Amino acid sequence: MANMIEAFSIDGVCAICRRNPVKRWCDYVVAYDNQIIFFRDYKDFVDANSAISYETCDLPLCDKCATNVGRDRDLCPHHMSLHSQVKLPEEYQRLRQIREKQKMRNNSSN
Ligand SMILES: [Zn+2]
Ligand SMILES: [Zn+2]
Repeated sequence: MANMIEAFSIDGVCAICRRNPVKRWCDYVVAYDNQIIFFRDYKDFVDANSAISYETCDLPLCDKCATNVGRDRDLCPHHMSLHSQVKLPEEYQRLRQIREKQKMRNNSSN
């Protein structure tokens, strides 16, 4: 699979339609630092997430095959269908963002 994606990237051709030039990459997060995501509590989860880098799908896409789901966020068709099924409840997202902002503020005041 990795070799396949590399080949597509070198071509500079969209991995979906295989015709148009690559303009975007899928931003769907497929792994968090290659760890299994099990945390004892929410604090552990937040700590881990703030320290690691995301691994994203990175499938090369053209403008036509990518679906824009937010600022600088594009998804391939496969992950777009997943995304619409697994959308987190709004409250949970909001809570997460608030916690992250608080954490950032705490860090900068130290
Ligand atoms: Zn395409
Ligand atoms: Zn994808």
